[in-house]
Amino acid sequence: MACRVACRGFRIARYLSHMRISPVVANMKESATLAVAAKAAAMKAAGKPVIGFGVGEPDFDTPTHIRDAAKKALDQGMTRYAPTPGDKTVRAAIAHKLHHENGIACTAEHVTLTTGAKHSIAMAMQALLQFGAGDEVILPTPAWVSYKPLIELYGGTCVEVGSTVDQGFLLDVSAIEKAISPRTRAIILNSPSNPCGVVQPRATMEALFHVLARHEHVAIVSDEIYEKLLYPEVSAGVVHMSPGADPRLAQRTITINGMSKAYAMTGWRVGYLAAPGSNGQFAKEVIKLQGQLTNSIPTFIMPAVVEALTNGHAGVQCMRQAFAARAQLTCRLLSDIPRLRTTPSNGAFYSFPCVKECMGLRTAAGRTLDSAQAFSEALLEESLVAVVPGEDFGACARTNIRVSFACAEPLIVEGLARLKLFVQGLR
Ligand code: PMP
Ligand code: GLU
Repeated sequence: MACRVACRGFRIARYLSHMRISPVVANMKESATLAVAAKAAAMKAAGKPVIGFGVGEPDFDTPTHIRDAAKKALDQGMTRYAPTPGDKTVRAAIAHKLHHENGIACTAEHVTLTTGAKHSIAMAMQALLQFGAGDEVILPTPAWVSYKPLIELYGGTCVEVGSTVDQGFLLDVSAIEKAISPRTRAIILNSPSNPCGVVQPRATMEALFHVLARHEHVAIVSDEIYEKLLYPEVSAGVVHMSPGADPRLAQRTITINGMSKAYAMTGWRVGYLAAPGSNGQFAKEVIKLQGQLTNSIPTFIMPAVVEALTNGHAGVQCMRQAFAARAQLTCRLLSDIPRLRTTPSNGAFYSFPCVKECMGLRTAAGRTLDSAQAFSEALLEESLVAVVPGEDFGACARTNIRVSFACAEPLIVEGLARLKLFVQGLR
């Protein structure tokens, strides 16, 4: 008997070692943001006083009234399956928000709640792209690390249109138009931007919408997850613009947003997608897909989302003010570091300085810096400061590092002092 069990165990082990992994998955990059966060957390757990500018996650707790709404729902027994896209109340609350705050003409039927905004983006790509058809998606870069892998995972080719710190990370609208081909299926927009911390000016967005209006075969995927984090304290008059509000684009815009950043709800995993196009058929297809993938978000979270959207304004404003002060502090301290070049952040909670002038130099511990990856690794090992290297944010970002300032001011002061010493120590 013992022998049979042992033999079976041996066979299973052999099978496992031969399990084929799909090349699409095997070749996909892991998320650089999550990798840095995990490494910094492991170093902290090992007792090293790491300062984490890695992950883009608010350091605030979810406001109490939002947490209470979820607790109440649990106590009331909201523990069973819900309709795939969410219940009527929560979908209506999102449609109402999109209509009144963003000027997007949509109804509850065009909305689905998803497992984070990441899931919405994945499903948008899955629903738009076809394997083997040569589909292209335009991605203005620097752009968040997950867009390109998700485009490629569903068979698309990512066409990057770059911008640099010298251009203030502004969209190059004429380069975007030149990149549009008959194979372009979509463009992904993200203003305020991760990783640049930049909100595209109204005139730039209007020029882009004008261009996109001429190319009717291009869908617009607008990731608006940082829309509430705007800093007029940095740029007076900064505004958020939704392409879905432009009547010329409304029918082919997929608006994506979520609760993670504005409401400090990262761990709740709530995002949403709204697509009024094709008489609601696109939304129906996405909901069908979602029904096979994950079904709905947790049922008892839905009342908390309604509570956040209805009564969360004061909490959002409070956190926004704190982020605005941190944006100003971060910019001031980064500008004081030799060899680094940066732009002021007027949105989101990132700064994306260029470290090109540090390339070719050696650190105090003797490492040669030949990439943003090498810079970030050395900074973490030698000065215990975690940042995300620029490479995975786009080809134009190979000599940038991302600093997330979603942490308390004393940590920003200490972490950027360490960064300054690190750079000053380069030879
Ligand atoms: N879009 C952008 C630009 C982001 O920075 C993030 C960060 N997580 C997401 C989408 C996904 O957010 P979540 O899945 O937590 O809603
Ligand atoms: N979006 C955040 C970031 O860029 C969270 C981590 C992730 O999902 O990438 O750091």
